Amino acid sequence: MLTPSDTFLRALPKAELHVHLDGSLRAGTLLELASERRVPLPAAEPEALARHMVVADAKGLEDYLERFELTLSVMQDSAALERISYELVEDHASESVRYVEIRFCPALSTRGGMDIQEVLDAMLRGMGRASAKFGVRARAIVCALRTTDPRISVEMAELAAANRDRGVAAFDLAGAESGYPVDEHLEAFEIARRAGVPITVHAGEGYGPDSIRQAVELARADRIGHGTRLLEDPDLLSLVRERGIPLEVCVTSNVQTRVAPSYESHPVRRYVDEGVPVALCTDNRMMSGVSLTDEYVALRDHLGFTLDELRDVARAGFAHAFVAGEERATMLAEFDQATTAPGTTR
Ligand SMILES: [Zn+2]
Repeated sequence: MLTPSDTFLRALPKAELHVHLDGSLRAGTLLELASERRVPLPAAEPEALARHMVVADAKGLEDYLERFELTLSVMQDSAALERISYELVEDHASESVRYVEIRFCPALSTRGGMDIQEVLDAMLRGMGRASAKFGVRARAIVCALRTTDPRISVEMAELAAANRDRGVAAFDLAGAESGYPVDEHLEAFEIARRAGVPITVHAGEGYGPDSIRQAVELARADRIGHGTRLLEDPDLLSLVRERGIPLEVCVTSNVQTRVAPSYESHPVRRYVDEGVPVALCTDNRMMSGVSLTDEYVALRDHLGFTLDELRDVARAGFAHAFVAGEERATMLAEFDQATTAPGTTR
């Protein structure tokens, strides 16, 4: 049963800054798309498939990647990409997410013959239609992958730059960290930076603080994806705080991949207390089996966050969005108005 504070957290205007398109399909949609495209799946019912896709029992990275292979297998034509992008914005709207940045790597959806611009166009169409229908501000983040040829990273950066005015908010480097350092992809970061495309880098999740330092110093990241292991290097933590580089924190994902042994031991409590900028995110709604509201509930239930603190966390999500200053000011004003109006909890 929902408590008044659950209801408050669901209705609280939220921003989602780190959610992967290929990790956030509806189970029913994955089943329908797979059936239409004759792709075999390990379960035939939405509930069973949803359970299978959650990586809570992952033995290692392979278990995790196998699930992404399933979703990617149906993400190879424009109709499927448009549908899942539309639905992802709709799902966010249903839990009061007012701003969302959806990330994916277009190079992973070219097996059916589309080029990367056609892939991105399909995603932007679905995202844009839902954005207009549900009144949610939505942007795309183009991901490159640490594990692929740096020339593909360059193509992804060029794609992000060319679509800067068409709904692409930023450029990201994702994928396995250990053994795949940032410095192989510096040309891509340079292209993004020259075009004025903000940069976020997955770091401090699959590898230690050195990876975060590389993201800050070599990639000159504007935000860090995860940054979970930042606390292992106090000097670096001070640097990140002084430069005001926000961490995109995904608590449930970190517990499932065992970067954090438990919710209770997750460093987000310490980061917030020490003034490190934080945005609370899901990473993957399907593979983590969570909504953004669930992540707020987890901070309340496992890490002692009060509702006032969670309101501040939600506000920070809008403050750290990759948008122009004017749009950020508008979003923050809307947030303040919605959360201080008569009848809202404070
Ligand atoms: Zn991620």
